[in-house]
Amino acid sequence: MSLFRSVRETRGKPSRLPTVKTLADFDFSFQPSLKREQIDSLHTLGFLERQENVIFLGPPGVGKTHLAISLAIATAQSGRRVYYGTLADLITSLEEAQTAGRLSHRLKTLTHPTLLLVDEIGYLPITPTGGMLFFQLMSRRYEHASTILTSNKGFEDWGEIFGDDVMASALIDRLAHHCHIVNIRGNSYRMRQHRELQRLLAQTEPASTTPTSRRGRRRKEVPTP
Ligand code: ADP
Ligand code: MG
Repeated sequence: MSLFRSVRETRGKPSRLPTVKTLADFDFSFQPSLKREQIDSLHTLGFLERQENVIFLGPPGVGKTHLAISLAIATAQSGRRVYYGTLADLITSLEEAQTAGRLSHRLKTLTHPTLLLVDEIGYLPITPTGGMLFFQLMSRRYEHASTILTSNKGFEDWGEIFGDDVMASALIDRLAHHCHIVNIRGNSYRMRQHRELQRLLAQTEPASTTPTSRRGRRRKEVPTP
């Protein structure tokens, strides 16, 4: 079974997602660069009616997948069809279909859902064929149905990810034409405990830091995020 899959609603609960993340679980105070009104407004799902895309950009751990999944869940709960997977999963699924002589069928299947969530653009390199297949799918969905994408890389690096500057800029041109770009510039939520630990350790640090006062006091190093 392809890892790029449709999200099902089973007794009110979305299934086949890696984790369940909702807007209610999201701590906006941790990410002050985010405009709460923009995220709330996306959750009213008007962007789906207007066939607009949403692109979450930002470094690892800032909540891109969390917010993208929460939009996917809201969409599935509204009774609409949603597909989810990483870009690597999606490309594998298209390549497998091509090998099996079923590419046009697979492209059709993935063109029609109201929402496609393509997670993790930029973590793994893409083959030229993979890039072309993704481009074909995005061209078909352009002005037809919404796609949510997440990436840890800015648009200026997409040429490198896809190994083709011309194709990447044509792709960005289509994706960004009717699009909400959510740029998250903050700290990783995954590392927050380490930051908290560091802050607490700094508070307990004695005023004098001469070599004598440090003798005999060994504390565990906390990795810097
Ligand atoms: P990204 O996709 O940007 O790398 P994730 O969305 O996977 O990051 O977030 C990493 C983890 O931290 C997830 O478990 C997510 O639910 C959690 N998380 C991130 N940001 C927040 C936040 N502001 N409030 C609550 N949980 C968060
Ligand atoms: Mg992610």
